[in-house]
Amino acid sequence: MAKKKAPLSRTERLRRLLEISRILSSTLELPLLLQAIVELATELTNSEAASILLYERDSGQLRFAVTPLHQGDSLDQLNVPLDESAAGWAFTNRRPLVIQDAADDPRVFRKVDQTIDFETRSLLAVPLMIKKEPIGVVEAVNKLEQGHYTEDDLEFLETLAAQAAIAIENARLLRELQTANIELERLDRMKSDFVAITSHELRTPLGLILGHATYLTEIVPKEYTEQVEAITRSAMRLKTIIEDLSSIAHKEQGEARIRRTFFSMSDLAQEVLERFSTLASEKSIKLLPELPRKGSLKVEADREKLKVALSHLVRNALTFTDPDGTVSIQAEKQNGYVKVTVSDSGIGIPEDDVARVFERFFQVETHLTRKHGGMGLGLSIAKAMIELHGGQIWCESEEGAGSKFAFIIPERARQAEAAARVFKTS
Ligand code: ADP
Repeated sequence: MAKKKAPLSRTERLRRLLEISRILSSTLELPLLLQAIVELATELTNSEAASILLYERDSGQLRFAVTPLHQGDSLDQLNVPLDESAAGWAFTNRRPLVIQDAADDPRVFRKVDQTIDFETRSLLAVPLMIKKEPIGVVEAVNKLEQGHYTEDDLEFLETLAAQAAIAIENARLLRELQTANIELERLDRMKSDFVAITSHELRTPLGLILGHATYLTEIVPKEYTEQVEAITRSAMRLKTIIEDLSSIAHKEQGEARIRRTFFSMSDLAQEVLERFSTLASEKSIKLLPELPRKGSLKVEADREKLKVALSHLVRNALTFTDPDGTVSIQAEKQNGYVKVTVSDSGIGIPEDDVARVFERFFQVETHLTRKHGGMGLGLSIAKAMIELHGGQIWCESEEGAGSKFAFIIPERARQAEAAARVFKTS
């Protein structure tokens, strides 16, 4: 039985309400919140006990979230039907319910009393409402000292219920968000594992195919050369895909290492342009180098990784530009950094997608409607390579008017490592 406490004065009750509003707005831990609400509901209404029932969409019934007199286990599994209970009445009618004499009232759900060996004599039930929709009910039972529930009791319980509903909803939303986040992290890990395992497992058989194809090129009669070359070309294409997947996996596992040398960024940009000159002329696209003199723009960086990054930018620029368009590459010095920009006069990227192009597997068109190959990995690899250098990469684009991809990297290793550390912790 509840301890006999002197009923609270009206001023005291107001003070407690104020206090609880502070607690309710400061905690998002649902069990703690519910417990605090129930304790105050008991005190404010001078009742023997109080409870909170929350609506469960799946079963369409109410379920005890906090139980009277800590009878948790026994009431845990008990569903309270909406049409045969006082709480259900308050919930369905979206109005409070006062029962001064519960003995013969058909609205009282007797199974609760039977389960916890309790006797409900009187009862106050107030719905918990969020934006005019009920989410549950708070109940106070058995007014102490054989008294009747008053207008004041009802008013205090309604005020508490209004605040409690918001706090409960916020805590529930937070919990849902946390669960969704955990699930997203799990899916992301699965995706990473898949990428790492697939790229690793495909390497060996592909190496064999390439090896044998190269051997065959030398020994097969001339009339089969075309077929063998087709095998080699396709296998080389697969090799590039696997290398892309491996770069992503290495970056994610923190295994990507930088091997720095001193080299000229101007020369590297020129080399990449030359690599794509055949593709450009096949598509009648003009390549426009805007580079400082040969051997200039010295950086201390990983040449291979920057070549990969730059190649992805130039390849994309050529892929997404129609014949007779232009692709230009610019390199310049900027306060201890080197900036490289690849611009094209191509199809551009819709505004909403610009921020997403560096995500893994992201493609503006879905793979079903796509005219171009690719897996949506090139830009995420370029981003990883640039970030390993403590640099940054970004995109500016206008649909139908072309795109500009630019990156900056620090000129020197020491400065780059400091920037990479800042980048890692930010
Ligand atoms: P993919 O290998 O599929 O091209 P990327 O990561 O390199 O993958 O690019 C992601 C997507 O960003 C592309 O599929 C394309 O939709 C868009 N994109 C990239 N570069 C350009 C560009 N220069 N112009 C227009 N769209 C581009």
